[in-house]
Amino acid sequence: MKNLHCKIFGHHYQVSREVTLHVKEYTCKNCGKELTTNSNGYLVELTPKYREINDVLASMFIKRHGHLPTTTETTTPPLIVGNLISFSH
Ligand SMILES: [Zn+2]
Repeated sequence: MKNLHCKIFGHHYQVSREVTLHVKEYTCKNCGKELTTNSNGYLVELTPKYREINDVLASMFIKRHGHLPTTTETTTPPLIVGNLISFSH
């Protein structure tokens, strides 16, 4: 039984989709249970309603940024670096 493993050891969640930089969807690789980050930053069960909200969030993110969220973007904002260089001389 796949679910028995989860009952004993807990779920083994992996990121299945990056919706925005802060909202992600997770899937348990043992039983397939899905979670998502809600607007308060808490993990909740990924219901069809939340999937709908995430689809909207994802399309808004792509419209604004022109691409899917990537983890590298959070560490190196190029605009701030550019301003620092132009003001230092
Ligand atoms: Zn599980």
